[in-house]
Amino acid sequence: MRTQVGIVGAGPAGLTLAHLLHVVGIESVILEHRSRDYIEHRVRAGVLEHAIAELLVDAGAGDRLRREGIVHHGIELQFAGERHRISLSELADGRTIVIYGQTEVVKDLVALRLDTGLPLLFEVSDVSVDALESERPVVRYRHDGEAQVLECDVIAGCDGFHGICRPSIPTSVLREFSREYDFGWLGILAAVAPSNDELVYAHHERGFALLSLRSPELSRLYIQCRPDEDLDGWPDERVWEELQIRLGLDGWTLAEGRVLEKGVTGMRSYVAEPMRHGRLFLAGDAAHIVPPTGAKGLNLALHDVQVLADALGAWYRTGSQALLDAYSAECLRRVWRAEHFSWWMTSMLHRADADGDFGLRLQLSQLRYVTTSHAAATSLAENYVGLERV
Ligand SMILES: Cc1cc2nc3c(=O)[nH]c(=O)nc-3n(C[C@H](O)[C@H](O)[C@H](O)COP(=O)(O)OP(=O)(O)OC[C@H]3O[C@@H](n4cnc5c(N)ncnc54)[C@H](O)[C@@H]3O)c2cc1C
Repeated sequence: MRTQVGIVGAGPAGLTLAHLLHVVGIESVILEHRSRDYIEHRVRAGVLEHAIAELLVDAGAGDRLRREGIVHHGIELQFAGERHRISLSELADGRTIVIYGQTEVVKDLVALRLDTGLPLLFEVSDVSVDALESERPVVRYRHDGEAQVLECDVIAGCDGFHGICRPSIPTSVLREFSREYDFGWLGILAAVAPSNDELVYAHHERGFALLSLRSPELSRLYIQCRPDEDLDGWPDERVWEELQIRLGLDGWTLAEGRVLEKGVTGMRSYVAEPMRHGRLFLAGDAAHIVPPTGAKGLNLALHDVQVLADALGAWYRTGSQALLDAYSAECLRRVWRAEHFSWWMTSMLHRADADGDFGLRLQLSQLRYVTTSHAAATSLAENYVGLERV
């Protein structure tokens, strides 16, 4: 088989890239090793930056997002028994965030792709990429038991952190930067209306908690835990009890409901440079990971593929490689801004044993500063909704 762009991975990055390319008449084949059902029900992110929601709408992939996405104008920071509102839209020139689950983004994009009749192959196996430094890179894979070779002009490695594309880049070329955290998030999805109109990021001596949502009927809640926390030790009652303690305030209680999903996510900051090797372009989690506190992972992935689709469009239209050559540096500027912001939010809000009481006092001081200084609050707000320029 032959195509212009071979896309490995049908997560948000791969699916969005395929759609953006289709809009400008560029062919692609998407190869995904999981099933359709699996990728459409993998509960992950849910906060879209202003510009990313606009990207999907402008590309014709945002009809349901426009109808069902919930626009938020602010977030709340809770510490020392009080909540403080950060008005995102007032501080960031009217920009907002849109609450719309990653599962829904993926469902919309899969449906659009299948409507076009263009290739999106699920449950492929033994995927590998080869001849990356040639003008005819190839993806090898097995589908329905048959070994296949896909010849491409370029390959987009959108196969997430554990994919095969990044490890195909020689170690002499790739530089990796990473930071591990000694905590993770225990998250639940619960069938109960969110108890607050906006997200609440809570600093607590027992550890961080987050009140978030996926829809008017679905709450998404997290508590800081160990990265290897055993879920067997966390029956639903204990999760709710801990959430009540960490999010509780005088005169306010968290509404509880049936737990639909429960999982532990480890935390990591990671960047691979460069994001291109020959004719292989990495995008999204394949190239970088952030802790989820800044709600940046999904947004960065979609930003990468927007830059890549523009660059490929220019190349096919004019023959100029200038934008392709600039791809890695252009993406990495935004990636490193998001890395810093996500690390900063994480450090401000989580209990880290190694930092002791000194660290706790610094966090409270920082939280007071962010909620009382216009300059500090503006910095948080403009990073949270997504900077226009980096
Ligand atoms: C448990 C969890 C919770 C998260 N929560 C949040 C959050 O609250 N907020 C936030 O902003 N971000 C969150 N993130 C991060 C966010 O979900 C990711 O940044 C986002 O999914 C990145 O999209 P992607 O398309 O780059 O990668 P992915 O979504 O990982 O998609 C990669 C795709 O490639 C496929 N694939 C992998 N290997 C191969 C292969 N060899 N061949 C073919 N296909 C392959 C995978 O099955 C997958 O479908 C979370 C991530 C995880 C893991």
